[in-house]
Amino acid sequence: MEIINRRQRMASLARKLRRENKTVGFVPTMGSLHEGHLSLVKEARQMCDVVIVSIFVNPAQFGTGEDFEKYPRDLTADAALLAEFQVDYVFAPGTEEIYPPGFSTFVDVEGLSGKLEGKARPGHFRGVATVVTILFNTIRPDFAFFGQKDAQQTVVIKRLTRDLGYDTEIIVLPTVREESGLALSSRNVYLSKDEKAAASKIYRALRAAKIAYREGERNALKLAETVRQTIEAEPLGQIEYVAIVNAETLEPIEKLNDLTILVMVAARFGHTRLIDNMVLNRKQ
Ligand code: AMP
Repeated sequence: MEIINRRQRMASLARKLRRENKTVGFVPTMGSLHEGHLSLVKEARQMCDVVIVSIFVNPAQFGTGEDFEKYPRDLTADAALLAEFQVDYVFAPGTEEIYPPGFSTFVDVEGLSGKLEGKARPGHFRGVATVVTILFNTIRPDFAFFGQKDAQQTVVIKRLTRDLGYDTEIIVLPTVREESGLALSSRNVYLSKDEKAAASKIYRALRAAKIAYREGERNALKLAETVRQTIEAEPLGQIEYVAIVNAETLEPIEKLNDLTILVMVAARFGHTRLIDNMVLNRKQ
C-alpha cells in the first residue's frame, strides 16, 4: 500500500491504471475509520482491481462554529487498518493540495443542497460537492462507494455525477450500526457514556416507524410523530428535525404511496449532533 500526498502524483497514477484497463474503486473518507468505512472498503476490494481510499478532513464542508479543528484525526492508525484490508493507495492530501491559494471555484447542487442537512448546515453540501468533484477529477474512478448513513449526501453525489457527466458508478451501502443500534460515526467519540446509550434511541425510533409502516401506516405526519415521541422520551436527546421525504428528490411527502421514502433524523445529544435515517418501501 502506498500513501500519496500530492494531487499530481495521484492523477498520474490514476492515468496509468486506466491505461492498464484496471477497474478503480474509490472510497472517500475523512479518516478516523470505523467499521462503517471498512464496509465500503471491503465491497470496493471485492468489486475492483484497484482500491483507492482518500483521507481528507475537508474544511469546506464545516461551518463556522462546527468541529473542524477538533474532528478526530489519526492517519497512522487509519493507514495500518487500510493496509490490513488490502487497500492499494491511500490519498491523504494536505489542505493546500486540494485548495491551493486563490482557490475560488465551487460546485453547488442546486435545490438538493439547501434542504434538510443543508438548511441546518449552510454551505455543507457545497463543500462536499466541491471536494468530491476535485477527487473524482483527480482519480476518475469506475466505482465510488458511499454509506447510506449520510442519505442526503448520496442523493447529492448521484445528482452531481449525472449532471457533470462523470463515468463513475455510485454504490451506496447500508448503515453499519453498533449492537445498540447506534449508527457508527467518527463523531461518536464525542459522546459521554450516558449520551451514547441515549443516542441509541434514534435507531429505536426509526425501527418504530418501520414497524408502523409495515403495519400499513401511510400518514407521514403520524410516522414522524412516532419517531419524535420515541426520541423525546429520552431527556438527553434534542431533536433538530424529523423529515419524511421522497428518497430521490428529498421533497416532503404527506401521504405515502409506493415510492421509496426516507425517514431522516437529526438530533443533538449533549454537544454532539447526530444524523440517521431509514429507507422505507413496499419491498421490505
Ligand atoms: P466520513 O468519513 O464521515 O466522511 O464518511 C466516509 C464515508 O463513510 C461516507 O460515504 C459515509 O456515508 C460512510 N459512513 C460513515 N458512517 C457509516 C456507517 N455507520 N455505515 C456505513 N457507512 C458509513
